Amino acid sequence: MIAAETSTFRPGEFHEFEGAGKRFLYLVPAGAIFEVDEDTSSVLAELSKGGVTREDLVGRMAARGLSFEAASELVDEMTMSRVIVSGEPVHEALQEPPADFPLQSLVMNLTNQCNLSCTYCYEFGEDKVATPEGKPKFMDLTTAMASVDFLLTQSNGRQAVHITFFGGETLMNFPLLKEVVSYATERATQEGRSIDFSLTTNATLLTPAIIQFLSDNNIGVTVSMDGPPDLHDKLRVFANGRGSYDIIAPRVKALIAGHRTRPITARVTLTSGVTDVMRIYRHLKDDLGFHEVGFAPVTTSPDRLYSIGEVGMHGVLGQFNVLAQEYLEYALRGEMHGFSNVSDTIAELYQGVNKSHPCGAGLGLMGVGPSGDIAPCHRFVDSDEHALGNIATGVDREKQQAFLSKGHVNAKYECHTCFARPLCAGGCHHEAFVRYGDTGHPNLHYCDWIREWTDTCLQIFGAISAQNPGFLETFAQRKGL
Ligand code: SF4
Ligand code: SF4
Repeated sequence: MIAAETSTFRPGEFHEFEGAGKRFLYLVPAGAIFEVDEDTSSVLAELSKGGVTREDLVGRMAARGLSFEAASELVDEMTMSRVIVSGEPVHEALQEPPADFPLQSLVMNLTNQCNLSCTYCYEFGEDKVATPEGKPKFMDLTTAMASVDFLLTQSNGRQAVHITFFGGETLMNFPLLKEVVSYATERATQEGRSIDFSLTTNATLLTPAIIQFLSDNNIGVTVSMDGPPDLHDKLRVFANGRGSYDIIAPRVKALIAGHRTRPITARVTLTSGVTDVMRIYRHLKDDLGFHEVGFAPVTTSPDRLYSIGEVGMHGVLGQFNVLAQEYLEYALRGEMHGFSNVSDTIAELYQGVNKSHPCGAGLGLMGVGPSGDIAPCHRFVDSDEHALGNIATGVDREKQQAFLSKGHVNAKYECHTCFARPLCAGGCHHEAFVRYGDTGHPNLHYCDWIREWTDTCLQIFGAISAQNPGFLETFAQRKGL
């Protein structure tokens, strides 16, 4: 709708950035990217003078050499895409998420047991939210089959659904994993639907037979690994304190060589003293051969010894930026780069993601623990406080609704004026709980960091779209976007 002739225009809500010498706007309410050309730049320059009506604007653009029709069309187009706005600012009301939002992914924690004792583990460490006392340590077949049935029923006819296997250490219950793959595949096939699988593992229990099974069944694998031995072994240790690198490295190499059907990803947890992003990336990508490497700072209270702190996070950002530039160089040559922190954000920008919630937890994704308790995601599994029901009795819709309402970005006051909110939406619910004791609290401790990193990714995206747009199409095809 075009504003009344007498209303004055002002710039919409956007974040300006450059890529390859071109000017772009990130249109925040839409999560969309708009390239600024000479004419749109002139409109914005006119607006900066203040008090400009539509008639003024069209007249001034006509005076700059555009035909009256072209000037009108330009102003209308910029209004439609909300680059420029008029009238009273509109506050978008909180929309309750639908209670019957179809499930897409189920994370099955096959066991809450682990053969490592990583110091920072959110499941066993000092910040744990789980209350596993008196509950089964391993999921049984009855619960697992009921979980598969739950996913297929709750996904309301979605054509494709997904199961992620998780732990504890997932492979400590490998016999059940095999049964689930077989049962879920059969059930999905009966319904004419597709199902795919992935798992996260610490790699200590990988054997040639397991690798063959994972490859034969097209199961995606993420390995938790923190870099070369001196860094990995700082915190990823067995119960006796011995580092796990020497056990893992040969198994990872065998996995990468033997798994022929899916790329293998490393997932690095950054902690105090384990922040050498470049060295970690080079080792995991070049020495061990992972296809993708992703990094996440440890989720913890700020007073833990392994917490990174502001100075450390600043250093991490600097190294992320170096790797992001390398990503750009690869993309301009038409090559894929393995830094998944950039890939993940590029994928979201490509799709024009505009999140109401930071992630799918409690919405399109749920976790289920060995006891059959349903949780918003794998990180809340076995926590009585956060349980959303049980596989046997179904989802407690009231609890689910309460979790989703408080996690909605519109309920997070500080996020209302933040340009990063279409991608961040306040950040991980689990981290918010660990930091602030409230899953709906915005993760304000990292806002500056998130905004700087978002700006970097926008610049990379802008530069690729200006200089090698074909890369984005190939990228989207490969990622199934
Ligand atoms: S948590 Fe911070 S960075 Fe994220 S959307 Fe809210 S204000 Fe922005
Ligand atoms: S709540 Fe946090 S850990 Fe759970 S799915 Fe969301 S982002 Fe991931």
